[in-house]
Amino acid sequence: MNIILLGCPGAGKGTQSKILTSRYQITHISTGDIFREEMAHSTEMGKKVSQYVKSGRLVPDALVSEVVASRLQNCSKGFLLDGFPRTLEQAQVLDAFLSKSNQTIDVVVYLNLKEEEVIRRLSARRQCSGCGEVYNLETRIPRVPDTCDSCGGKLTQREDDMPETIKKRLMVYADLTDPLVAYYKVNQVFYEVDAADPPEEVSASISKIIDEMAAKAKS
Ligand code: AMP
Repeated sequence: MNIILLGCPGAGKGTQSKILTSRYQITHISTGDIFREEMAHSTEMGKKVSQYVKSGRLVPDALVSEVVASRLQNCSKGFLLDGFPRTLEQAQVLDAFLSKSNQTIDVVVYLNLKEEEVIRRLSARRQCSGCGEVYNLETRIPRVPDTCDSCGGKLTQREDDMPETIKKRLMVYADLTDPLVAYYKVNQVFYEVDAADPPEEVSASISKIIDEMAAKAKS
């Protein structure tokens, strides 16, 4: 099963991706996670993308597409794309790459969330600097303040989750990603899910969609 998960920053793509990729045993490709990892290790790519990521601007299409194309080569059981594509150009590069390798997208799921809720969620988000586990100071509170329940690492706020950068990211999102939603509504099997629901309800809704599609494909 090949899935694209669309949704603005804070809609819960990361949380849902983890649940779904573990349930369906498919590869999780998160461009945001890849870039943060490269930045944490100060690699060449990390240095190239750092200014974009920290300021909430999009990394240039050519660089992102190259990263995704290399990851897509090792996904024999299927993949879930999280945070990519974000622009029409990226969607077109993805289409071309998949058609060359005889692959298709089975479903696009759009996690829809109102802007006020996005700002509330992102401002309360904290991430473990050790294992990357994500917390929320309102809905997923760590047992010990500022400390990861899983590995004891220190919880920090992502630099791009500061209020000014959140606003910037949402503006970028509306400009570039709204047309992408319109594109996929027309060109792919497309479902919209209310991301304001609790995470377990959101994942149940998405799983239902995927299971129904898998059953249809078999029959
Ligand atoms: P995310 O964790 O998906 O919110 O991504 C964090 C940041 O990584 C974004 O604000 C961008 O700077 C960069 N980024 C992630 N995915 C993409 C993409 N598909 N295109 C361009 N930039 C991206």
